Parts: sequence; structure tokens; C-alpha cells
Amino acid sequence: MSVYWNTRTKGLSPYVPGEQPQNGQFIKLNTNENPYPPSPGVLEAVKKAADEKLRLYPDPACTVFREAAAARYGVKPEQVFAGNGSDEVLAFAFAAFFESGRNALPVLFPDITYSFYPVYAELWGTPFRTVPLAEDFSVVIGDYLVPSGGAVIANPNAPTGISLSLDGIFALASHLERQERVLVVDEAYAAFAGNGGTDGRGGTGRMCPAGSAVPFIEKYRNVLTVHTLSKSASLAGLRAGFAIGDQELIEGLCRVRDSFNSYTLDRIALAGATAALSDAAYYNGTNEKIIKTRGRVSAELKGMGFTVLPSSANFVFVKHPRLGGKEFFTALRERGILVRHFDRPRIAGYLRISIGLDGDMDRFLDACRRM
Ligand code: PMP
Repeated sequence: MSVYWNTRTKGLSPYVPGEQPQNGQFIKLNTNENPYPPSPGVLEAVKKAADEKLRLYPDPACTVFREAAAARYGVKPEQVFAGNGSDEVLAFAFAAFFESGRNALPVLFPDITYSFYPVYAELWGTPFRTVPLAEDFSVVIGDYLVPSGGAVIANPNAPTGISLSLDGIFALASHLERQERVLVVDEAYAAFAGNGGTDGRGGTGRMCPAGSAVPFIEKYRNVLTVHTLSKSASLAGLRAGFAIGDQELIEGLCRVRDSFNSYTLDRIALAGATAALSDAAYYNGTNEKIIKTRGRVSAELKGMGFTVLPSSANFVFVKHPRLGGKEFFTALRERGILVRHFDRPRIAGYLRISIGLDGDMDRFLDACRRM
């Protein structure tokens, strides 16, 4: 605490990101980064963007990036908002759509989900209520069909990896639409659902994952889908995310952004992110490999007696048959393998293991066998 902090700063409980060791001695399976490199087209675009034009501000509207996202997802550029990672997009969404103040109805999200949601709610003074997941860690949509200030659902959820059917999303969207409230669907991991990367309308060419709510944003005008290039496009280091939804929602996000920072994506990030969205074939290939590795790792762990939740993401959420979560975490760390442990009710016995390269996963499995 500092006397110079204002009351709000004193009251914050900031999000704590996974460890980023700077010496490279670990097998790093702790922050859901993609183990495969960005596409060659991305690296070329990034290098090309490092030129004398860096003296100029970037396009504040991120036009070329939004056009590329729109083409890939089969929507209009006016239905796309770009941000500096999806964390920023989520922060803007909380500010734009959820009421703050003690008298506001609470925003709902699961008790076990991305731990940044309560942090944003607290930052903006938005009341929230967490809704317990079922015993099997699935979302119980019926529990959300009550008066609320809106809702946030990660689909697939994190850190469980469990996905929710679109029927569930639509039931909640309809309920919230009647109350003129927004449903934010965080699709950070949707590309790993393993359903072939089609667009949910049976089309080809577009690269919208089949479990995504994007094809339905014109029907559900209160649904904002949020996406990131950090996981499925191997670009956690570049910081690019985006939202897709009705134009009115996108305009709301722009109002918040332009009251905060007009230039959220720099010229280099814009170039790389745009190239990534045009390289669907490359990323389909790398993401398929991750899905395959996930299946193999899950089966082997189950064979060793571990509990493994059914994952639609680029990580698995697992419980050791004998060791507690913290002990299992420490034992892996001692063997040079970094994973994520959340010391929180209901999930303290579990570890979240990001899916890495096959060789690294073999070393992880080997370590598990020896414990
Ligand atoms: N949503 C979820 C569910 C996540 O796990 C993450 C990654 N920590 C993010 C959003 C944010 O990703 P980024 O800011 O890198 O786009």
C-alpha cells in the first residue's frame, strides 16, 4: 500500500498471469501458448512493417485487420472490433455494456472460469455474482435465467476446457435480450474444439470454428463474441484480439476505446495479425496437430489413473490419482516442467497443462509415470 494510491487502486486485486521465465530452461506448459511458430507469412509481414513508416501513427480503426477478420468469419467489417489482445477487448466490453454502482444488477459468470472477469468487474465497479458450475464442471444455463446485469461465458471454458453447446448459448442470449442485456462469449479456445474448422453453416473457405456463436450474431444482437490470436494463431507475443457482434455493440466498444487510447494496435501488430487471419490453411494444420496431441495425452493420463476433464481447448485440466495439486505442480517444476495451478476452491486438486510439442508432452508423460 502507498499513501499515493487512490481508494480504487488500494481496493484492486489484480490478475496474476502465469510465470514467464526469461531463461528458457523449462518445458513451458503454463500459459496456453501455441507450441508451433507463427506462419511464415506472419513473420514476413512483421519484418516488412518494421520500416520508416513507424514514425507515423497506425490506423486507429485497424481497417485492414478488421477487413481480414470479417472475410475469414463471414461478417461485415463494421461487425468487428480490434484490440490489444482479447484481454483489452474484454476490459472494454465490461466498461461498455455492464452497469456499475451498488444498485446495478450483478453480471453473472461461472465460479470457475477465466479469473480476469472478476478483476475487470472490480476495476469498473460492476457488481457480479459467480454461478457454480455443476459437479462435472459443466455450465448449468438454467441458473443464469434470472434477472441480471448481463453474463460472460468462456466457450470452451477455462481452465476446465469444457465446451457448452450453442443451444445453451442461444437460450441465455434470448433470455438476456428480453432484459436488454449483453452476453459476452469468450471464444479464446474455440479453434481447438476439434470439429474441423468449418463455419457452423456448413460453408467452406471461412474459418469460423463450428462451435462458435459468430454465425448467429445477426439473430442475437446482444451477443458479443471475443477472439484472440494468442492461442490459435501462435501470436501471444504480438498482442492482438478482436470482437465480433452487432454494429451497435462494436460502436459501444469504440466509444470506450476512444475515451482511453486511440491506437491500441501498433503498425507491426496490425501487419502480423492481418497476415495471420489470411493464413487459415497453415493454422488449421498446426491446430489439428495440437488436437491430436491432446487426444493422445488425455488417453495416456487416463491410463495412468488421472482424472482428465473432456477438453475442447489447447490444454487439459487434470488431477493426479494420489498427489494433491500443489504437490503435483511442485514435482513437475522440479523436473523442469512448468504448468498452472489455481489454489482455489473446487479446483485446487487440478493442474492445467497446456498442450505442447509431442516431444515435450512425452517428457511430461514420462515425469508423470515416475511420480
Ligand atoms: N480469454 C481467456 C479465456 C483466456 O484464457 C485468455 C488468455 N489468458 C484470454 C482471454 C486473453 O488472451 P489474450 O489477451 O492473449 O488475447
